[in-house]
Amino acid sequence: MKYLIKTFGCQMNQHDSEFIASMLRSLRGEAVSDLDAADIVVVNTCSVRETAENKIIGFIDSLKRRKRSNPDLIIAVVGCMVSKREQIDRLLEKRKHIDIILGTRSLYRLPYFLERREAEKGPFVEFDLDDDIPEGRNHIREESYRAYLTIMYGCDNFCSYCIVPYVRGREKSRSKQDILNEAKALVNDGVKEITLLGQNVNSYGKGLAEASSFADLLYALNEIEGLERIRYMTSHPKDFNSEIIAAIAACKKVCRHFHLPFQAGSDRILKAMNRHYQRDYYLDLMAAIKKDFPDSVLTTDIIVGFPGEEERDFEDTLDILNRVRFDNAYTFLYSRRSGTPAADHQNQVADEIKRERLQRLLQLQSDISLAKNQAMIGKTYTLLGEGRSKNNPQMQSGRTDGNKLVHFSADEDFRGEMVDVIIEEAHSWSLNGRIK
Ligand code: SF4
Repeated sequence: MKYLIKTFGCQMNQHDSEFIASMLRSLRGEAVSDLDAADIVVVNTCSVRETAENKIIGFIDSLKRRKRSNPDLIIAVVGCMVSKREQIDRLLEKRKHIDIILGTRSLYRLPYFLERREAEKGPFVEFDLDDDIPEGRNHIREESYRAYLTIMYGCDNFCSYCIVPYVRGREKSRSKQDILNEAKALVNDGVKEITLLGQNVNSYGKGLAEASSFADLLYALNEIEGLERIRYMTSHPKDFNSEIIAAIAACKKVCRHFHLPFQAGSDRILKAMNRHYQRDYYLDLMAAIKKDFPDSVLTTDIIVGFPGEEERDFEDTLDILNRVRFDNAYTFLYSRRSGTPAADHQNQVADEIKRERLQRLLQLQSDISLAKNQAMIGKTYTLLGEGRSKNNPQMQSGRTDGNKLVHFSADEDFRGEMVDVIIEEAHSWSLNGRIK
């Protein structure tokens, strides 16, 4: 059985696709990259933006022709886009070539439906967002030295622009013991860096029978021998409390990289976004982090052009950039997402205004990023090697504790190894160095 998984969207989806690949491999499946060679195509969908959805639907539609020429081809559509009955009905109405549909919490049922598909025609549909995801899943990672580890599913925050709570369901934390068991097994297999995954990792532990918090989890993971680095994504400023800051200070394996999305600099827009914090709270939080971790790397996410954003609101966003001086910012133009409260706002910002604001923001951030990277020149950083560059095998790359990308040249392959490098050259988005 030859399979091809087409993944759209975020790290969560990439991680889910690794799990899908693990299940298919355990059925003696073999991955292929050529659609014509595949017996099964799994489309792991993303619904965060409507443009992404349209692209995915275009891809699903393009599979119709292949199914016509190969009626045995199995097509499974899984993930965020198939989490509601109406969405699924709409999708199936004109797409009789789909065999299996599985929501985010039903992915583990793929082998069961593949078996049923041998006897029945389908389509088979399962998408219950209240489902518990079973533990003990065989999960083969794509990389041997670093891995994602899901600590919780879903989100309870309902930011007004975001579809995630509607397509991934309400927050559910995995038990601390299950997470620790998985982390230890990963380290035994050679993993040095674990990234804890969840939509809002800082609120980990809510609703667990045995009381636990994100800070507790960090303390416990920090004890695992052989584990070098612990990362986590995504944080929410409202839940990033002093208990977490104290845990990070005490846990040397937790990377000094603070990614705290502030999204907008004006209180008016933050309220409309339903973010549950104000700009002063955010600035105080960043000041506390800078005080406790003076050499830390700070990054953020920003949405430009949220409905009702006026020039003075946008200037508040620039002001936060100037005050905090992030190492990097991931910037997004607001895009209307039907099914979310913000999509119904009447005062949408014109595209040309959004684009013009984004350019100003990118220019400012690029200057700040460059200045911060230049301050690293001459200093030594320990990298976790990521291997040789595809385009230039003389060059290798690695990441600092703060997740900065550094290129260096070396004969020995440092993929998966810790290596000390002196920074020699700085650009806005990467650095060059030499082995110490
Ligand atoms: S915290 Fe907000 S932006 Fe993040 S997943 Fe939840 S609802 Fe979406």
